[in-house]
Amino acid sequence: MGDTRISTEEAKSLVSRGFGVEAASLVRLDSYEDENFLVTDGHGKRFVLKVARQGTRSGELEAQNVAMERVATHSPDIAAPRPVASSRGEMIVDAGDGRLARLLSFIDGEFLVDVRPHPPRMLRSLGRMVAKIDRALLDLRHEGAHRTIRWDLAHAHEVARDTDPIVEPRLRADVDYLVLRFEEDVVPVLSGLRHSVVHNDANDHNVLVSRGGCSGLIDFGDLVHTATVFDLAIAVENGMLGEEEPLVAGAEVVAGYHEGLPLEEQELEVLFPSLCARLAVSVVIASREASPENPYVGVSQRAVRALISKLMRISPDRALRAFRGATGRAASVGAGGRSSASTLELRKRLLGRNLGLSYASPLKIVRGAMQYLFDDSGRAYLDCVNNVCHVGHSHAGVVRAIARQAAALNTNTRYLHDNIVELAERLTATLPAPLRVCYFVNSGSEANDLAMRMAKAHTGRDEMLVLDGAYHGTTAADIGVSPYKFDGPGGAGAPSTTRRIPMPDPYRGAHRTGEEYARDVRGVVEKRPERLAAFIAEPLLGVGGQVVPPAGFFASAFKAVRAAGGITIADEVQTGFGRVGSKWWAFELHDVIPDIVTMGKPMGNGHPIAAVVTTEEIAASFANGMEYFNTYGGNPVSCAAALAVLDAIERDELRANASRVGDELTRRLKELQSSKVSIGDVRGHGLFLGVDLVRDRDTKAPDGELARAVIEKLKSEGILLSRDGPGKNVLKIKPPMPFSLENADELVGALGHL
Ligand code: PMP
Repeated sequence: MGDTRISTEEAKSLVSRGFGVEAASLVRLDSYEDENFLVTDGHGKRFVLKVARQGTRSGELEAQNVAMERVATHSPDIAAPRPVASSRGEMIVDAGDGRLARLLSFIDGEFLVDVRPHPPRMLRSLGRMVAKIDRALLDLRHEGAHRTIRWDLAHAHEVARDTDPIVEPRLRADVDYLVLRFEEDVVPVLSGLRHSVVHNDANDHNVLVSRGGCSGLIDFGDLVHTATVFDLAIAVENGMLGEEEPLVAGAEVVAGYHEGLPLEEQELEVLFPSLCARLAVSVVIASREASPENPYVGVSQRAVRALISKLMRISPDRALRAFRGATGRAASVGAGGRSSASTLELRKRLLGRNLGLSYASPLKIVRGAMQYLFDDSGRAYLDCVNNVCHVGHSHAGVVRAIARQAAALNTNTRYLHDNIVELAERLTATLPAPLRVCYFVNSGSEANDLAMRMAKAHTGRDEMLVLDGAYHGTTAADIGVSPYKFDGPGGAGAPSTTRRIPMPDPYRGAHRTGEEYARDVRGVVEKRPERLAAFIAEPLLGVGGQVVPPAGFFASAFKAVRAAGGITIADEVQTGFGRVGSKWWAFELHDVIPDIVTMGKPMGNGHPIAAVVTTEEIAASFANGMEYFNTYGGNPVSCAAALAVLDAIERDELRANASRVGDELTRRLKELQSSKVSIGDVRGHGLFLGVDLVRDRDTKAPDGELARAVIEKLKSEGILLSRDGPGKNVLKIKPPMPFSLENADELVGALGHL
């Protein structure tokens, strides 16, 4: 466009030559794609000269002219520009260089953008005005409106699919999520929606206001034949910008619109994902066209970004309920499915009795969006505990990878497939040598079970060394190395082949230093060194109560185990994949390299995939002639999920986020500790933190009851946490990794009120 810009002199002569208007003044106006000039003639009458960008068809401009005339005829109370005829009676003239020009009447006034916050009355009148315009255009047929433009929301998922130009990693992931929602919730029903010619850009720089209401609309340049409801989506999105309560503001626009043009049920259903998609398109286009001189092409990008982070936290069900309510329909709309009471009743009847549920009154969670969860009533929760949906609930990259691979093929390891080898390559690249051989399984439990088989095969021994309070999984062998289970209710105590050592807890345990705890290890190992197969431990203890073993403990413990001929297994099921921020794997915090690493939970972001990674030597001992086949382990879909998780950790810069947010959260929690005697200890790394609640700071007596009450209270405030440790008194903080500083603020604020 730059080299074909029209000078003001050329514009002046065009106005005179084409339209017989002698410009006393002519000023260039800001514009996105076309070139616009404000023209004032000798009598003070004002016009806008619009020179369309090259390649615009005259039919497109004709359609806009017809639409403006229609609005003027149907709704004379709405101030809208009208085309001015040329000296030869034409509405469109040739401006040279293949460009077409029009002269429009100038509409003056105050714009909606200057009225902040928008009073409800104003928002309602915005909806009413857009409805009137849509009604005026409802039966307009014009081939010029049938065109493909990037601002037509029907193409939102194509336009905003490539989010690479967005520089901020977390915003980019949120935008990916919004595009995914549009693909899921709007695209499949798009062709069935009411279609008509719409203005398509009722943004607050185009909407005029007067006497407390919206009175006019300019810029018909994005006019297009599309789903009628998209015009409302754009108005609602703009009405929400800068609002404290976007849903309340949006509902006003919807109510006004519905008065003027009744909304169909399906239009209401697609409204929320459509307006979210409009925000996604806006961010993608602004980012794509940003340059150092003009970092944000879009004028309202800051407000757009703030609105996105608010909308991520609104359940589509809640939005639909608000919009339906605004149209006078019964507001009640469930998330589909049974009532939670009925689900609970069926669960009790049909499922095993010892499947646990969180909370006195269990939650029925029906959706997730990055670090948020939504229940069946549409209530949003900040998820501070789910370390399985590591890169975010319903992360677009992972969802698409699973869907794409499932649509292509799912088989098993008896055929060659690239996903499994690529995953092994990518995974081992995150691990130090000699951890180079992978086995893929379906759960953390299976990974630990297999790791123990390998250890036993390699050493020819059968005894396991474990930490008190540890949990390693649910198979018979795993339970045998999980004091958390075999010491707990229903447990049968330690098997004869399990030896245990005290939890290296520098806060509440018998010792403070790593060396003192390592001495315990040596004592136990040296009793019967010849039987020791392996030492299995988490580098940071999860169910043990988010315990951080003291410096030097693992180095000395590993030395003692190896001296006895045993091998070392790091269970990274909870702590791996960058959760600790500064490192990929928590064992790296201790400057040790285990002989076997097991991993699970975050690996598939909720899709069941887990792995054992070991050395060539141990893998060779395990391959003793007995084939290893695992029906689902390493299947192409699961591997695609895990590859997408690795991509997301990098692309969304989640390790850096875990460090930054985790450090700040730790600092704030420690600050809180100084004013709250019930907080005995704050510990952890990155986004793997624990808050140890005590009855008494001196005795450090665990306050499990307080922890229970805190968790219930926070739930009532929309924050999900859990607790663990032998005294069930440690608040566990291990949220999805997109957890933000604002989220940390909110969590600390809520804990501060207790
Ligand atoms: N190891 C650790 C440290 C765990 O916390 C868990 C699960 N809580 C497991 C293993 C077992 O993993 P899964 O439930 O995937 O079998």
